[in-house]
Amino acid sequence: MKLARRLPVVIYRWTVIFLALWFVSYLLPMLDLDITGHMFFLLTLGIVAEWFAVSFPQGQLAATFSVIFASYLIFGSAGAVWITAWSCLMGQALARSNSLPTVLFNASQYVVAIAGADFLYMYLGGSLAERLAWGNIFPLIVFVLACFVINQVLIYLYLLPDRKNNPLVFWRDALRWDSITYLLTAPLGALMAVIYHNVGLWGVLLLFLPVLVMQFVMRLYVHLELANRELRALYEVSKGLEGKLDQDSILEVVLAEARRVVRYHTGIIYLWSEDKGRYEAQAVSGPYKRQLEKSIIIPGQEFLGCLAQSGERAIVCDSKRDPRVQGQPGFTQVHKSVLVIPLLTEKEVLGLFVLGDKRCFAFQTSHLHVFTGIVGQAAVAVANARLNKRLEINATTDALTGLHNRSYFMECLERVFNEENLPSQMALIILDIDDLSKVNHNYGHDAGDAAISMVGRAVFSVAGYRGVAARFDGEQFSVLLPGVGEVLAAELAEGIRRSVSSTILETGDYRCSVCVSCGLACYPQDAGDAHGLLRRADQALKRAKENGRDRTEGYSCKDLSGKEKQADVSFLSRKKGMGV
Ligand code: GH3
Ligand code: MG
Repeated sequence: MKLARRLPVVIYRWTVIFLALWFVSYLLPMLDLDITGHMFFLLTLGIVAEWFAVSFPQGQLAATFSVIFASYLIFGSAGAVWITAWSCLMGQALARSNSLPTVLFNASQYVVAIAGADFLYMYLGGSLAERLAWGNIFPLIVFVLACFVINQVLIYLYLLPDRKNNPLVFWRDALRWDSITYLLTAPLGALMAVIYHNVGLWGVLLLFLPVLVMQFVMRLYVHLELANRELRALYEVSKGLEGKLDQDSILEVVLAEARRVVRYHTGIIYLWSEDKGRYEAQAVSGPYKRQLEKSIIIPGQEFLGCLAQSGERAIVCDSKRDPRVQGQPGFTQVHKSVLVIPLLTEKEVLGLFVLGDKRCFAFQTSHLHVFTGIVGQAAVAVANARLNKRLEINATTDALTGLHNRSYFMECLERVFNEENLPSQMALIILDIDDLSKVNHNYGHDAGDAAISMVGRAVFSVAGYRGVAARFDGEQFSVLLPGVGEVLAAELAEGIRRSVSSTILETGDYRCSVCVSCGLACYPQDAGDAHGLLRRADQALKRAKENGRDRTEGYSCKDLSGKEKQADVSFLSRKKGMGV
């Protein structure tokens, strides 16, 4: 089956090669052997020009055609065909890592193009004796055009099987570069022929040497420029790793630097969201930014999800025809070319770097290599940022309740008092679970823990959104309420107390409830600094305990609950009839 598909390709390629061989051997007797030295001279120029061709990402520039055209004008078709065949064969063999059949085909298609163009030249009455005459200008223009057209068609057909998904893309790029090449080299070839006739070989050499030097310099420049862009992109991303940039800025830099390396329409970096169990767009570059900022990837689902799961890189050259993405909604519908590189750490796929372009074949394997380095740097930066965040959260959060811990609370308290814009009023509540030791003793430590986390939830839901709520100590909580006055603070403290006492705790075999005592101190009336305020709130709490627990006492306004009787842990019921 594969052989049946390849057969027309093989037949086409070898037909062109045999045709070229036939032309070369047919024209051999017509070579003027008296001037072989001159021909070798031009051949050498052709080999060097082909050898040092300037390669762009989408095409190439070489002065070879000027040598071919000059040879045609000086030696006629036989000389031109022989010089062309050998300069292409040897120049390309020296310059590129092309396979031998490709080099052979390239040289052959040039030979066929010249032979075909020569046929047209003669058909139009082009002079054989005086090719450089002014009267010959029309057939000569047709010769150049025919060379160009035959050359393009033969190459188009050669590339067709490999690019069958979208053959026009590469062809259009090649066409653009080849047009420029022919426009520059055809007049140069004519000039070389004129100089050959008037000055001699040395004149041709003097004219062509600067062209070769220019081509060589351009080649170096293009090479350095491409390498420089890649290095620059790597450098900019690495700079982010020094810690100067936060995670979002690093991702923005990666997308911006990617534009230096390749032209793309849309770039997205997805990162794994632990809470939601999916990849979410974290940075987007391109005209659909606002819509794509909400896009997600579910691991294992569709093309991107599968890559996120497997951690593999991929390039899609034409999404309309690629079976991996065909018919899938979203990114691959809008973009014909897609490049995907996962952000990998040793253990997991942190995210996905996705580039899309509306042209087919916009990304090549070389881009995969460059971006793997850049994305690898970004992955390290993201992993570091996430680790730092986790450490930061762990250092400021209480594991049992999820509230802030004591050191973070103290830091906030001192910071508020050191701020230039100190609020005109402020309140601090300290609350303590009543008789927690009894809960521990009667129901076990787990029940005590459950009571602590239940109180934590009550503290957060009633007052957390107004200020800083923390688990201050084992069974003590504190709430700092900047901008809150005495009346509102007392209401909030009472709100917490009532919420706690009305909550029934399910503790294994038992159901019970606990109470809290609250102490309240207010700035500026009770104290003028952080430690003073803390001390006063603690004193108020002590009084609440002394006065019978399950109540709120203000430092200066005494009992705020209006309660008289002594409270205790109330055991509401027993599920299995076991004693306390
Ligand atoms: P009071 O009403 O005077 O506050 O009585 P209390 O029993 O709550 O206070 P006390 O200071 O006598 O004992 C505090 C208890 O809180 C003792 C300790 O085991 C318990 N506790 C402190 N931290 C934790 C904790 O993280 N988990 C559990 N289960 N108990 C804790
Ligand atoms: Mg207690």
